[in-house]
Amino acid sequence: MKNIAIIGAGMTGLSLAYNLKEHNISIFDKSWRPGGRVSTRKHGNTYFDHGAHYLSINHHVKQLRDILNKLNIVKEKEIIFSTDFLKNEIIKKKVLIGNNGMTSIPKKIFEDLNINGYFNSQIIKIIKKDNKYSLFSNDEEFNNFDFVLISIPYIQAKELSQEFIEFNKEHEPKYDPIYTVMFSYNKSNNINLDGGLNLHKDISFFMKQNFKFPNLNEECWVVNLTSEYTENNLNIDKEQLEEKVIKIFENSFEISQRPIFRNSHRWLYAQTKITYNSISKKNWIGSKDSRIFLSGDWVTGRSLSDAWYSGEKLSYYIKLLSI
Ligand SMILES: Cc1cc2nc3c(=O)[nH]c(=O)nc-3n(C[C@H](O)[C@H](O)[C@H](O)COP(=O)(O)OP(=O)(O)OC[C@H]3O[C@@H](n4cnc5c(N)ncnc54)[C@H](O)[C@@H]3O)c2cc1C
Repeated sequence: MKNIAIIGAGMTGLSLAYNLKEHNISIFDKSWRPGGRVSTRKHGNTYFDHGAHYLSINHHVKQLRDILNKLNIVKEKEIIFSTDFLKNEIIKKKVLIGNNGMTSIPKKIFEDLNINGYFNSQIIKIIKKDNKYSLFSNDEEFNNFDFVLISIPYIQAKELSQEFIEFNKEHEPKYDPIYTVMFSYNKSNNINLDGGLNLHKDISFFMKQNFKFPNLNEECWVVNLTSEYTENNLNIDKEQLEEKVIKIFENSFEISQRPIFRNSHRWLYAQTKITYNSISKKNWIGSKDSRIFLSGDWVTGRSLSDAWYSGEKLSYYIKLLSI
């Protein structure tokens, strides 16, 4: 049995923990909860999945499908979805969603793992002492690890591990940034759509939250700006951004009431644009001594099932090494 530290409790980190659970696992996250970009926000009596919205019904990751079924944490929903709002294309689409918002998926997986979780613990430094690794947060030190697995966005992972790893500049994955705007209305606007794409040239995605949270009294929406718009407006004033989006939304659906709640979030590393595997043909990045490894959705794709798959791939290799 090895002492293994996992930095990042998103879907990749949870996959690593799940697949290596016969070892002594400690998982660290700077946030107060597991899930990372799978995130449900609560504001008063409203809920918004403002990171991942749903899991594709056709995703290819069998292990994740089996776990979700075993733990009974997702449900299938048929939604009315516009594949291109500007061209008025509408279909019925089946998606998988968390029973209690998307956050309930990583939360339940983490609880079921029964491992040591250190939350509100941002790891800022890694050092090697006597052939073992130590991790440092701002106020604590964690010692005696045989392996350190880093499953955080690539750029941050690189910063944390550059002392131990020779990075190839030609193999850098790329990310798209995304602004997310959340708002809610007091009364229903009777919009006959649960979500869609291309609401406007600057808005790539919109989704009603009420089919996910049936007890919501207010009508809640999450709207994503395109990565181009986000990239060109990285420091836009929050109020200005929210007002722009709400105006576009109101014009698109001829709404006359004003929202009673609004908020926004900037994801700098939202979704993978170019995967590491597509450039390098490799499935993880490792240190010279094969003790520190990097993984994340950025290795294989842009979805939470890709994140799980990336963790699964790396963990098989760690199993070989630790025999
Ligand atoms: C707006 C948006 C919409 C999306 N929509 C969908 C969708 O509908 N369907 C879908 O399948 N996918 C979607 N995705 C993508 C999906 O959310 C991600 O692919 C997946 O969640 C990534 O998981 P991960 O574990 O690789 O990374 P993350 O979820 O980013 O996890 C990394 C974790 O590391 C932690 N961390 C970072 N630095 C440190 C540090 N130094 N010390 C300790 N902890 C640290 C973070 O707090 C985080 O919890 C969306 C993403 C966004 C942002």
